[in-house]
Amino acid sequence: MAKLIDGRVIAEKVYVDLRREIAELKEKDVTPGLAVVLVGDDPASRAYVRSKDKMCRELGLHSLKLELPASTTQTELLNRVEELNADSAIHGILVQSPPPAHIDETAIVRALDPRKDVDGFHPENVARLVLDDPCGFVPCTPLGVQRLLIESKININGAHVVVLGRSMIVGKPLALLLMQKNEKANATVTVVHSRSRDLADITRSADIIIAAIGRAGFVKADHVREGAIVVDVGINRVEDAASQRGYRLAGDVAFDEVSKKASAITPVPGGVGPMTIAMLMSNTVKAARQALGKAT
Ligand code: NDP
Repeated sequence: MAKLIDGRVIAEKVYVDLRREIAELKEKDVTPGLAVVLVGDDPASRAYVRSKDKMCRELGLHSLKLELPASTTQTELLNRVEELNADSAIHGILVQSPPPAHIDETAIVRALDPRKDVDGFHPENVARLVLDDPCGFVPCTPLGVQRLLIESKININGAHVVVLGRSMIVGKPLALLLMQKNEKANATVTVVHSRSRDLADITRSADIIIAAIGRAGFVKADHVREGAIVVDVGINRVEDAASQRGYRLAGDVAFDEVSKKASAITPVPGGVGPMTIAMLMSNTVKAARQALGKAT
């Protein structure tokens, strides 16, 4: 039976380190500040924004929650982004995805000051990731997956990692991060996606499988070799009449069967999810530290 990798416990460890760093910054009169911008009233986005705001407050960060109506125009949103770019109390800016359909998300991301782009989606930060430049911001979920593995003493160095999914939010930056040339990475990375042939043959050759495709229970025991490490990024709503909400959350991995074969596995919920928000806080503190370095 696989060892359970507990994302909540590891996230708490991250917060212990962050609290110390935040205290050090406050001694220099800097309170790291995060602005989260929500356009529209999508309930899931609203819940994400709430939990980010709550975590900022728990850590003693300055938190600005901008809730704009769904009717907000592209120009109005760009103006708000410009204001935040110029606000010295704000070190990190995040525009909650997805915005309403009339908003051009790419243009919004490009309008962010890359030094405040704590989501790591700005082309300048993508380039820094490709260039192994540690000053850039790496998207929070990939960063959280790497930290989970490191804190669980799983050796990434030289391992064959198979990433399922090639999105710009998870799969692609994760592959770039884990193939970086440093001791925290150095993996041999294979990325598979919806057009990959012989997918199960490829995943069976992995030391570490990371599933990020958005298909509940897709990764079965047959995809996994005995003793592999399995990280489940997926968060999927599955109908469940027994649940009060009418649904339950499920990962991309068929947990019951895969956990009998893997040597370690993350649960959903309670695996990668808590790490994503911890890394957002970590990126915000990093942005404040880098801004201070520039000012002094
Ligand atoms: P996207 O829909 O943007 O990307 C999904 C990727 O999976 C695509 O590359 C797609 O391939 C690939 N894919 C889809 N179906 C298959 C299949 N049958 N076989 C092989 N590959 C397939 O999703 P995201 O990357 O944004 O998210 C992935 C999952 O992670 C979702 O469940 C999401 O909710 C979750 N998530 C969790 C986070 C967390 O904090 N834990 C944060 C972000 C996301 P192709 O490119 O060919 O279409």
